[in-house]
Amino acid sequence: MKFGGTSVADLEKIRNVAAHVRREVEAGHQVSVVVSAMAGKTNELVGWCEEACEDYDAAEYDAVVASGELVTAGLLAMTLQGMGIKARSWAGWQAPVKTDGAHGRARIMDIPPENLAAFLDDGGVNVIAGFQGIGPDGRVTTLGRGGSDTSAVAVAAALGARCDIYTDVDGVYTTDPRIDSRARRLEKITYEEMLELASLGAKVLQTRSVELAMTWKVPLRVRSSFDAPDAPSQVTEDGKGPGTLVCEEDEIVEQQVVSGIAYSRDEAQVAIRKVKDKPGVSASIFGPLAGAGISVDMIVQNVSADGEFANLTFTVPRGDLKKALKALEAEKDNIGFEEIASSSSVAKVSVVGIGMRSHAGVAAKMFQVLSEKGINIEAITTSEIKVSVLIDEAYTELAIRALHSAYGLDAE
Ligand code: ADP
Ligand code: ASP
Ligand code: MG
Repeated sequence: MKFGGTSVADLEKIRNVAAHVRREVEAGHQVSVVVSAMAGKTNELVGWCEEACEDYDAAEYDAVVASGELVTAGLLAMTLQGMGIKARSWAGWQAPVKTDGAHGRARIMDIPPENLAAFLDDGGVNVIAGFQGIGPDGRVTTLGRGGSDTSAVAVAAALGARCDIYTDVDGVYTTDPRIDSRARRLEKITYEEMLELASLGAKVLQTRSVELAMTWKVPLRVRSSFDAPDAPSQVTEDGKGPGTLVCEEDEIVEQQVVSGIAYSRDEAQVAIRKVKDKPGVSASIFGPLAGAGISVDMIVQNVSADGEFANLTFTVPRGDLKKALKALEAEKDNIGFEEIASSSSVAKVSVVGIGMRSHAGVAAKMFQVLSEKGINIEAITTSEIKVSVLIDEAYTELAIRALHSAYGLDAE
């Protein structure tokens, strides 16, 4: 069971979480719980780091931001004990959640299950601080924002358990219900679609958590922590239950062509004007960006009529824009461009659906709908099961709502 920030935002909510845990214990399950920091806490801690030192040390950042989860793990363990349930908290390093050494975005390498399993076998409930682990040098690491989802799936994989993610919405919706009130809850969604939605901006699950669940075949359910905690136990033997089940394709009977729409405002666009259209130019641009650790997403190239010059447009994470421009300016003579322009007021909107593999016309419909709304497309990328477009950020909601209706996703 994993509970996110809004679900543990204060002591009353923590008591509510404890009641959910008690229900599962009383139903005869062995339970390990992963908790996030209280809502807003991690942002506050990140803010302190930024204030303390402009160019802060990533290892110390982890030491600071990992503290939020320690508080909630301890408080939940106490609350459970107060209800007569045997429980203890585990910091990431105690469990242990072993990660690589990439501070601020570490990957879980291994969770030796012995400690956690022994406590379960003693009849206890494990309460594990999410989002954190221990690196190869023994220092505290964190897994990137939203990382408690990944902690939870990794713990489930290590213990051979299912994983229920409790959050502030009652499942995965066809789009962010905060953007479009006609969004519909999905009973089931495939790992692959969920992976696309998460990586394209739907923050209901951290991308890495879905990857792990898919690899280790962890049954993953997203459900609400605000459901009545004492209602009779909810996930039945045949796997039916509240919320949304993330599962294999063959477990879904009626597959829609488009399952969901995601958006991301974490985008910035860079346009390089008038570079020579000759072999090696793309390498001279994207090499330095890779060298600076910046991942480039959408790329569009167009060549002038005489074939001599090209314009290149691409996107980078918004937070990396300054760094990207600096890296490119430093290589100006080598690349040989006339001008660089950039914009942070862009957004990426994506339609996702496994049915696209066998149905033509999904992209065409997307372009048609956007054109009817007068929304210009700056860049396009596709994969087997998604189409993404880059648009002016001001039109994000309009685009989502229009597409949501056009693909027949609106709730009745
Ligand atoms: P937690 O703190 O529990 O981890 P998050 O805020 O990280 O919760 O994730 C839940 C939020 O994800 C919801 O409040 C919702 O606004 C957002 N969200 C974005 N896309 C979707 C979607 N397709 N379905 C459900 N929720 C979504
Ligand atoms: N508390 C961390 C964050 O806000 C991890 C999480 O909530 O999943 O990013
Ligand atoms: Mg989250």
